[in-house]
Amino acid sequence: TAQEQTLGFQTEVKQLLNLMIHSLYSNREIFLRELISNGADACDKLRYQALNNDALYEGDPELRVEIEYDQDAKTVTVRDNGIGMSREDVISNLGTIARSGTAEFLQQLSGEQKKDARLIGQFGVGFYSGFMVADEVVVRTRLAGTEHNAGVEWRSRGEGEFTIAEIERAEHGTEIVLHLKEDAVEFADEHRLKHLVRKYSDHIEVPVRMPTVQEGEDETDTTITWETVNEAQALWTRPKSEISDDEYKAFYKHIAHDFSDPLTWSHNKVEGKLEYTSLLYVPERAPFDLYQREGARGLKLYVQRVFILDDAEQFLPLYLRFVKGVLDSNDLSLNVSRELLQQDPQVEKMKSALTKRSLDMLGKLAKDPEAYQTFWNQFGTVLKEGPAEDHANREKIAGLLRFSTTHTDSTTQDQSLQDYIERMQAQQQSIYYIVADSFNAARHSPHLEIFRKKGIEVLLLSDRIDEWLMTHLTEFDGKSFVDVAKGDLDLGEIDSEEEKKAQEETAKAKESLVARIREVLGEDVQEVRVTHRLTDSPACVVLPEHEMGYQMRRLMEAAGQ
Ligand code: ADP
Ligand code: MG
Repeated sequence: TAQEQTLGFQTEVKQLLNLMIHSLYSNREIFLRELISNGADACDKLRYQALNNDALYEGDPELRVEIEYDQDAKTVTVRDNGIGMSREDVISNLGTIARSGTAEFLQQLSGEQKKDARLIGQFGVGFYSGFMVADEVVVRTRLAGTEHNAGVEWRSRGEGEFTIAEIERAEHGTEIVLHLKEDAVEFADEHRLKHLVRKYSDHIEVPVRMPTVQEGEDETDTTITWETVNEAQALWTRPKSEISDDEYKAFYKHIAHDFSDPLTWSHNKVEGKLEYTSLLYVPERAPFDLYQREGARGLKLYVQRVFILDDAEQFLPLYLRFVKGVLDSNDLSLNVSRELLQQDPQVEKMKSALTKRSLDMLGKLAKDPEAYQTFWNQFGTVLKEGPAEDHANREKIAGLLRFSTTHTDSTTQDQSLQDYIERMQAQQQSIYYIVADSFNAARHSPHLEIFRKKGIEVLLLSDRIDEWLMTHLTEFDGKSFVDVAKGDLDLGEIDSEEEKKAQEETAKAKESLVARIREVLGEDVQEVRVTHRLTDSPACVVLPEHEMGYQMRRLMEAAGQ
């Protein structure tokens, strides 16, 4: 048509398409899950907007996703009567990837990583997965509530560009036609499609329908009946005992736009003063933008089963931003918005309850050390933000932390504070730690000499956040934390009487040596004193007890302080 226009994909899309087709080949059946997932999201969005404007349904309020196939034409079609898209929506949604940091991330992938389906899969692959089975994809769509001539047709062969044209379209919503590749015609098959719908989309509340054509007496007399293929009940509304692990996992992939299974989950229905259902998940792998300010976080919020918002961040603290899931509240108003959530006192209460749930879920996960280690390696440094952000749960969070210590002398952070306390010496009162720039610097610090000699365990801290963490972690299980590199370390509690006496004598004997060193170093030091900490090294530098540590100093310097 005259209005047809050809546009190029954003570079990131081209890269992703390329990677996807090669790395996800053996999983390509998931294209159906992704397209149904998008159709269901579109229905959710229409239902939400129609709360205030019935007319958006255009007389067709029965939301649904439909799947058809044609063996002769070698096509599979996925259609929904959801919100649909305007021309601008189509161009930005089906031509770019909005997530910031994507370009850098894709550029940094090594050759091996490019083949890792889980790395690629964290983009949610989404709409573009259609190109794994199709050599041409055609999208016809119209935004609900617009004129029939506001329809849009998008076409692409997935090779760098797409065309876009204005069309007449009587129905609102979106239809996606996949022209199957020669080696993917197997998908144009009733049993295959039904099987995939049940496998991946049972838990979606919107019915997914397929047609059955009944031939009548003569050729013209055929009738089509639509059969709902999936269970079509929102997963979290069903009783826990009736939901299989596979269903929980499939649902996770739908809401989290993730490709990997979750590590664990927690499904709870709460009744009483507050009424809500939550289904929280811990992912197996950190998204690349975990530390980016704009990275997506938060729960999918429903009110009385009506979808309201994606990424509602108000219900969990920042240090639990890796938790994904659904919250369905009976107390909030259907008219809530992001802004209103910030003022609602109910939200604070739910946040505190959901925080406890999340910590309990991690506590349970910790009973499986191998799974917990996976979690810790991915998200440990985020959880370390917890004691500073959430004083009320400090002790609980501390119990979930894992450390490298002189007990194992390994870089693997797998020792808990409980482990440490169980191994403490009889007279020992404190938990000792050292913070350094690297694991090796910590491990080989001269400050540890006396501890090693006496067989006292020391936590070896070298993550960037550790010093910050330790300024907020002062006590655990009644034991205080002591930095072995600071102040006049008092090991009195574990030194014997003879040792103490010998130490006093040494101090006296060395008074003149100390005076000479002080003279030489002059202004460069605050104080020189005899120490009993060292066994092999002749001297070491320590910070006064209440001074900022080295890492903090560097952080402050970097911030221009
Ligand atoms: P995601 O679903 O993770 O956002 P997708 O690649 O699956 O990513 O889809 C990209 C965007 O395209 C969606 O966020 C949505 O805005 C739009 N989109 C895709 N399919 C549909 C559809 N059937 N109806 C309306 N919008 C859609
Ligand atoms: Mg999607």
